[in-house]
Amino acid sequence: MSKKCTIVMYHYVRDLKHTRYPEIKGLDLPLFYEQIAYLQKNYSIIKMEELIDAIDQDAELPSNACLLTFDDGYIDHYTNVFPILEKKKLQGSFFLPVKTALENKILDVNKIHFILASVANKELLVQEIFQQLNEYRETYKLQSDEFYFKKLAVANRYDSASIIFIKRILQVELPEVVRNAITDVLFRKFVSADETAFSRELYMSMEQVECMQRNGMHIGGHGNNHYWLGSLSKELQRIELTESVKLVERVGGNLDYWTMCYPYGNYNSDTIDLLKELKCKVALTTEVDVAKVSDARRFELARLDTNDIPKDGNAQVNDWYGKS
Ligand SMILES: [Zn+2]
Repeated sequence: MSKKCTIVMYHYVRDLKHTRYPEIKGLDLPLFYEQIAYLQKNYSIIKMEELIDAIDQDAELPSNACLLTFDDGYIDHYTNVFPILEKKKLQGSFFLPVKTALENKILDVNKIHFILASVANKELLVQEIFQQLNEYRETYKLQSDEFYFKKLAVANRYDSASIIFIKRILQVELPEVVRNAITDVLFRKFVSADETAFSRELYMSMEQVECMQRNGMHIGGHGNNHYWLGSLSKELQRIELTESVKLVERVGGNLDYWTMCYPYGNYNSDTIDLLKELKCKVALTTEVDVAKVSDARRFELARLDTNDIPKDGNAQVNDWYGKS
């Protein structure tokens, strides 16, 4: 029988109601406790090393194997998640971009989260963006406001049309210089004028990451700048990936078990060629499924989002359990 593992993906895990930004799309801490209880009751939570040995040494995996993964290097992972996992003697796998831990820079994707969480009226933000576009329209030959709104404002299972518009126009649609400039203006205006201080409050420091590594947590790569790897040349991808290896080495990780998690789940065949060359063991995507654990799939492991799993220790198992 083929081996499988339910790999759960987490981002922000915080006591949302008692933070400055209750609107941040994250998992509320009490629900994290409940979800871990649910997973412990119904699954066998394994370590990253066991997953890799199941591929390389043909070691057995327990039935209903489950792996916990945490993306983006948020401070939440150190202050909230790590103590719970340590107490329960569970391992988490943490994937962080180099830039956030070392340079105190805030990723644009995170700036956008906090802009959205700081302004209740999303229409106001859309108007602010339109106003900003006027400044760049001629120089960068930008389209009309209506063009962008019609193209981008399409609601999905998590977000309203205005929110999707704001995310897409600032994350991908506009030329990079313009995106960054507008995001910076909005961040300074609505969130904070002190990026360095905000960054220190948002992300783990190297010391914290090292501490987790020393205490049995797994630390993996998540690129240098958190770029869409598939949109980069092979040479630029090589830099993103080698910086990831260096980070794992720097925090004392075992390179025999170095792993990668694609930012935004994005990669192409160049990425996989480079990972083979750099002797990466496995890589995680954002494809929503239970992962097939095999040599053929090792660089394309699917994951479930925390929202795909019950957040109640006593909940009935859902459909994903049947597939695990
Ligand atoms: Zn990420």
